[in-house]
Amino acid sequence: MRVDPIACRAHGLCADLLPELITLDEWGYPIVASKPVPAGALADGKRAVAACPTLALRLVPRV
Ligand code: SF4
Repeated sequence: MRVDPIACRAHGLCADLLPELITLDEWGYPIVASKPVPAGALADGKRAVAACPTLALRLVPRV
């Protein structure tokens, strides 16, 4: 899971939808855990990506 810090507008929606991986800093910008999205949270991860109003959030393949 990655956030484009330029595109992000700190809506905070992603942290609501994926709290196990995303927290918000004091300004409302997301802090994404560096660990991979667990298989059990993948549906929530996809929902968070789809809900981001600025397309700042994306799932990237594990390398
Ligand atoms: S939903 Fe999108 S714009 Fe809002 S805080 Fe998350 S990444 Fe940023």
